[in-house]
Amino acid sequence: MDLRTAGMSAGMKEKRFKTRSEAGTLAMGERVAEMLLPAPKLIVLRGDLGAGKTTLVKGVAAALGAAEAEDVTSPTFTLVHEYVGPRVRLYHLDLYRLETERELLTLGLEEMAEEADALMLVEWGEKFPSVVERADGEIAIEHAGGDERLFLVRVGRSA
Ligand code: ADP
Ligand code: MG
Repeated sequence: MDLRTAGMSAGMKEKRFKTRSEAGTLAMGERVAEMLLPAPKLIVLRGDLGAGKTTLVKGVAAALGAAEAEDVTSPTFTLVHEYVGPRVRLYHLDLYRLETERELLTLGLEEMAEEADALMLVEWGEKFPSVVERADGEIAIEHAGGDERLFLVRVGRSA
């Protein structure tokens, strides 16, 4: 599924947000979290290094009661972190360091996705066709100068 070109369907939600600080992005997590429920879902987080992908996950995890924002750290080296909240089991993945679909297999995405309350937020997920195919949406983040960031949140299947 290519969310950039897919036509909007009835079940598709799309929203744009703009923040001007890290704190702003953390606070925005609440509104984004609403769009990501109900689980299970897999969402690809797109954006350059330093765009704010991990910061957004902190905000979403806090909003869902899965973790305190400061306890959410980048899974750049650990690849996946899991936080359990009342409504979701949040899996935060960072595939930056993975190169092949074969390496990806060892992560056990299939098993995670089978859990009814799984909310998988995947940084650099767009690198892997197998991840894009199973995605329920994406959040694209762009630098807009200084500390400004633009967020385009698209959730829902187009087919
Ligand atoms: P990524 O996971 O996309 O590589 P991070 O969330 O780890 O990005 O880092 C974002 C960096 O940008 C942090 O150092 C943060 O303080 C800074 N920053 C500045 N403005 C913002 C903003 N509006 N939203 C999010 N992060 C911001
Ligand atoms: Mg990150």
